[in-house]
Amino acid sequence: MVMNTTPKGALRGQTTYAGGSTLLATTQRQFERAAAVLGIDEAIVERLRHCDRQIIVSVPVKMDSGRWEHFVGYRVQHSNARGPYKGGLRFHPHVDLAEIEALAALMTWKCALLDVPFGGAKGGIQVDPSRLSEGELERLTREYVRRLLPNIGEYLDIPAPDVNTSEKEMAWFADEAGRTLMRPVPGIVTGKPLDSGGNVGRKEATGRGLGTVVLELLRRLGKDHLTAGIAIQGYGNVGRQTALFLAEQGCRIVAISDISGGIYQARGLDIDDIERHLRENPGSLLDSYHAPGIERIDNQRLLRLPVDVLIPAALENQITPEVAQTTEAKSIVEGANGPTTLDAQDLLVERGIVVVPDILANAGGVFGSYIEWLANTTGSEWSLERTREAIRTSMLRAFNNVWDRATEKNGNLDLRAAAYEIALERVVAAMNARYC
Ligand code: GLU
Repeated sequence: MVMNTTPKGALRGQTTYAGGSTLLATTQRQFERAAAVLGIDEAIVERLRHCDRQIIVSVPVKMDSGRWEHFVGYRVQHSNARGPYKGGLRFHPHVDLAEIEALAALMTWKCALLDVPFGGAKGGIQVDPSRLSEGELERLTREYVRRLLPNIGEYLDIPAPDVNTSEKEMAWFADEAGRTLMRPVPGIVTGKPLDSGGNVGRKEATGRGLGTVVLELLRRLGKDHLTAGIAIQGYGNVGRQTALFLAEQGCRIVAISDISGGIYQARGLDIDDIERHLRENPGSLLDSYHAPGIERIDNQRLLRLPVDVLIPAALENQITPEVAQTTEAKSIVEGANGPTTLDAQDLLVERGIVVVPDILANAGGVFGSYIEWLANTTGSEWSLERTREAIRTSMLRAFNNVWDRATEKNGNLDLRAAAYEIALERVVAAMNARYC
């Protein structure tokens, strides 16, 4: 079923952002390539080319000044062939329908690849959250939930954190849904704080999953992780947790960056010291960190450093054809969703730069969400150790499936093509099994 809920005037004031349609074109093309390789029936391909449901809501918020502002909110449900729709909720000024559509489809492939019983969805509000007070943010989140509620549910569609959203917004989300439905519904959203039914390992899940993949990749490439150089673009939750995990394993993180710029040190940055600085100065960025021997670099330089592993963990479309052509990184592990444009991907494969795609590399997050959801809906208990081990095992299994498929089939280590093929096979099998 396709339903478009577009309130009158909801799109007024919406800015256009070419990045959303670029991302959509990239993900569609990747899916179509895999479908062609697998010889998938055109009727099924056509169904998966479209999202099941695209919801656009107007979100009125009374600002602290007393004035009302209207924001545009989205929720796109791509496919529920393998289980309830699942995917994050982002707050960003560039959010638009095309971007959310692409990200929803990526979630379908990601969940299938990790073999969790979820489909794919994504949500977003077009807003610059740094402009809003805590109270305004809370009212925005709660109103978005109320507007969306008929289409969200523990067994229907389960949001989670994404860019610029965290435990705090998820706690508001679960609370507002529970109040409106007049019963507790912790399983309606994941990534909640521990005291609202969250899982102790969820916050670190994406970073640890990503780190696990980096270590396995280095092992497969015959490189000792203790001497490998690693650069991370983006120091939000994903970048930060990845850096912490890899530093703990003894890896040399030579560069990191955020919106304020980057820092570089060839012998490896002191991640614990950076962490201490950021903890002691909440809200501060990397430009406020000083230590002897570090060099300031910009994001463009970071993306081209001669490292063993480059981890783009910021936003989409960062690895452009120009970056792909000139980067000296030996491999790329995608922390963000859709960081590489289509032309750039082809260039990287041609240049023999191994890319671990987003739907595999950052899937530890949704796997952590699955564990949280299981606990909420079945009452099962998950310790930190058990959660970590389950994430590690699942990430390694998925990595090995993809690696084996890529080496068997094309020999050129196009891990993205292999990952899409495995995911698509599983989604199509579920559709065929249900004759839908
Ligand atoms: N936002 C994360 C992602 O893109 C997590 C989604 C989830 O846990 O549902 O994978």
